[in-house]
Amino acid sequence: MPALDDLSLGFRNAYLDHERLTAQLHAWVHAFPSHCRVTSIARTPEGRDVWLLTIGPEPERVRPAVWVDGNMHAAELAGSSVALAIAETALRLHQGAEPLDLPAPIVERLREVVFYVVPRISPDGAEHVLRVGRPVRSVPRDVRVERGQPRWIPGDIDGDGQARAMRVRDPGGELVEAREFPGLLVERTLEDTGPFYKLYPEGRIEHFDGKRIPSPDFLGDNPIDLNRNFPWSWAPPHEQIGAGPFAASEPEVRGIVEFATAHPEIFAWLNLHTFGGVVIRPLGHAPDAKLHPGDLAVFRQLEAWMTEHTGYPTVSGYEEFLYEPDKPLHGDLSDYAYNQRGALAYVIELWDLFKRLGMPRPPKFVQYYDRVSRADLVKLASWDRDENDGRSFPPWRPFEHPQLGPVEIGGVDPRVGIWNPPLHALAELCASQTRAFLQVAALAPRLRIAEINRHLLPGGITRIEIAIQNDGYLGSYGLPSARKLDFNEPVYATARPEGCELVDPGAAHQVLGHLDGWGHGLHSGLNLPAYPGIRGNTNTAWAAYFVRGTGSLEVRIGACRCGFLTTRIAV
Ligand SMILES: [Zn+2]
Repeated sequence: MPALDDLSLGFRNAYLDHERLTAQLHAWVHAFPSHCRVTSIARTPEGRDVWLLTIGPEPERVRPAVWVDGNMHAAELAGSSVALAIAETALRLHQGAEPLDLPAPIVERLREVVFYVVPRISPDGAEHVLRVGRPVRSVPRDVRVERGQPRWIPGDIDGDGQARAMRVRDPGGELVEAREFPGLLVERTLEDTGPFYKLYPEGRIEHFDGKRIPSPDFLGDNPIDLNRNFPWSWAPPHEQIGAGPFAASEPEVRGIVEFATAHPEIFAWLNLHTFGGVVIRPLGHAPDAKLHPGDLAVFRQLEAWMTEHTGYPTVSGYEEFLYEPDKPLHGDLSDYAYNQRGALAYVIELWDLFKRLGMPRPPKFVQYYDRVSRADLVKLASWDRDENDGRSFPPWRPFEHPQLGPVEIGGVDPRVGIWNPPLHALAELCASQTRAFLQVAALAPRLRIAEINRHLLPGGITRIEIAIQNDGYLGSYGLPSARKLDFNEPVYATARPEGCELVDPGAAHQVLGHLDGWGHGLHSGLNLPAYPGIRGNTNTAWAAYFVRGTGSLEVRIGACRCGFLTTRIAV
């Protein structure tokens, strides 16, 4: 069997393009066909596959599974690297090695978990960002029917193959060059004397009347944000910018939704973004008072691991990550994964740039993004020059723009250093995030047949009793709040006699109910000796059959969420 190190195509020190990423996945599949599969869950309009990797022995056998995705926002390439690192480590679990020096009970647990990994949700978007540097939020396409408004079309205009920033001198400009760092544009203040600048994307203006310059939009000329296109609490574009024409209208989103619907066994869902250095957990639409207390306790456990392994704080989406107070986002992936799929879902904004700049944490994490001061920017540019080869702030070059006249092009390239960590920081990011996620994956419920008893009764009848136990952290339902979802069926047993017969054929199928796990999350009061909150053996259920004659009984026990076990009992 080839060593995983020899198969690595360098995702820990580089941001791979689609071709290389595809080659990486296929190298793994070819090397480990018994426990690694790759499937395409969608084909993009530009003809690329959205790859999903399945890792675990007998990949078709239903059992508890975790999901990891990255790079649904085109520029957020570090998510792909971290997702690949998690996938590689999951593969390592089945090579006999104990990866990352994980304790044996965790490794043993993880070997029974299936990993679904989509390292790049938007291959079209990532490709445009990597090749041209053009600003793309999610996908580089414009499916609008209304195109009458003047607007910016970002792209290469000076012929160097790259799309950067463009600055134009303007007495009304909002920006000015920092005195301490020539070339760096910062917010203008009252005492500044100029020259002042407007900052636009490199590109041209469609429907330009020669005078009025439209405001550039962060969604650029591709107004759909995949992270607003998911069906849970979707709202139309006039209420939610980036929503797309209807829920799951985009093939990438559609592919994920169809896969997730067919796989209720996904109990944990990691949605990787950049940047910020923060974990964003549910709820996204309401305060913590509305969050199921059982879920909250599990998320406190997540928070403890994230602090320990990554140093990232954990915040509620609603409490600390709304761009506008009390205006929850609609149609985002993690809300869908938590509320509709019942997964322990969360977002990580990789790359703790604010912390590295020494900025104090504001009352709400999201305020970091507004509070970058002139001094912080100078610090950022100096850091970029000293530690990132000056990638983020390249020099400005004069250019005669066909529509705007004299401009300067260059200046800002946030791909590596701002949107994503510098290449030398990527390996450590991959390692710490993998370590943290594997703890979460080890929370899986796990059914086990604890005991089988046979009692011979008069008249050639045998009573067979099977005790089934969940010895996982989470219940057979996953997160406590997921119990209410209609697909989240209770554990059941179905018996099939061979040679013998059931005394009551109507009892072949028995609904056993949900089985609790042993985990309660953190700070649930369980450890207080005065009032221990221990449950009875609610992790166990029994199926009983009366069988006449001799032969065997095949019993399949489980549920769509926690998977199935099959046992054959001689009678
Ligand atoms: Zn993002």
